[in-house]
Amino acid sequence: MIYFDSAGSFPVLDEARDAFINSVSKYSANPSSDHAAGVEAFEEIEKVRELIADMIGASPSEIVFTSGATESNNLALKGLLNSKLLENKKHIITSQAEHKCILSICGYLETIGYSVTYLKPNADGIITADEVIKAFRADTAIVSIMHVNNELGTINPIAEIGEACFEHNIYFHTDAAQSFAKLAIDVDGLNVDLLSLSAHKIGGIKGIGALYIREARELDITPVIHGAGQEIGLRGGTVATPLVASLGKACEIFPERFKSAQFSKLRNKLTSELVDKAIKYEVNGVSGLPQIVSLTLPEIDVMTFLLSHREKFALAQGSACSSKDIEASHVLKSLGFDRDKAERTIRLSFDFSTSENSIVELVKALHCFVNQD
Ligand SMILES: *Cc1c(COP(=O)(O)O)cnc(C)c1O
Repeated sequence: MIYFDSAGSFPVLDEARDAFINSVSKYSANPSSDHAAGVEAFEEIEKVRELIADMIGASPSEIVFTSGATESNNLALKGLLNSKLLENKKHIITSQAEHKCILSICGYLETIGYSVTYLKPNADGIITADEVIKAFRADTAIVSIMHVNNELGTINPIAEIGEACFEHNIYFHTDAAQSFAKLAIDVDGLNVDLLSLSAHKIGGIKGIGALYIREARELDITPVIHGAGQEIGLRGGTVATPLVASLGKACEIFPERFKSAQFSKLRNKLTSELVDKAIKYEVNGVSGLPQIVSLTLPEIDVMTFLLSHREKFALAQGSACSSKDIEASHVLKSLGFDRDKAERTIRLSFDFSTSENSIVELVKALHCFVNQD
């Protein structure tokens, strides 16, 4: 199996796995307990909280552990909107190209009286600050625009959007699941008030993530999961020390490895191989994170190719079967793709094991597929 789906889940780093396993028995006490074993587990968690805070220019008291970016996004939007500070503000600005979970949270919020503006990305796949500013209303409570798009790899101008929100006194949340530990993030420099991240997009284990909340203690955020006061009362449930340890280890190791990985070279190899084999292609979205490539192959029945090669290549497709029909992904739809074009689109995302040879193999298989009949 040749894996091209690191944006779906990044292969777990050996070190993150080991940190998890070691922590399972080493820190098996409840981190909320007052005895020495509990305190040890607590300290392990706090070390990771500090590490994450340092990585984004925050303070540890502003980091809340969650089960992942989906939960962080839920806490960010639902939790903040419940705040008394935002009592009369019923408008949310987001984009059509957000991760499905943001769209699903916003869909829910619409059913309880909020109105939501879903901005359409421009032809490059970007949400510009100008578009956000145009959508501002007197009752806008929060703007939620992702940092890096998970289907396109495009990078949104978070600093400009943050500045505009700051000037208009509007909270700004960004889903940074695809950018955390990959791009430099400074929550003050970017004027970000809330930021979601996830361990399994950076080589950690699934089931752990975090939400950064600016001055978390000052805001009367309503928890999504009520509990026994863990995570400054914002997220109930015993904190999963081994998962936190895996996230911490990924945070330590991933950024350097990501920086020294040759993703641009792999990307160039991909296009040069396609040219070489005379396979027509278009790259979707302006170039952003080189780890993620969205590719339309107009002359190839990509759906059939993927179906017949699912044992050989792990690739994400640009369309998905909904209840009735095959539909273009909402991200491609937001770029104006029809169903046929979406069906000819794949997403490749690289990891540390992706080699030029992986790419040669894929293009070879595409070439054989085209020329078989
Ligand atoms: C993967 C992903 C999520 C969901 O993260 P989980 O930790 O799996 O809940 C949310 N947003 C983006 C942009 C993602 O890539």
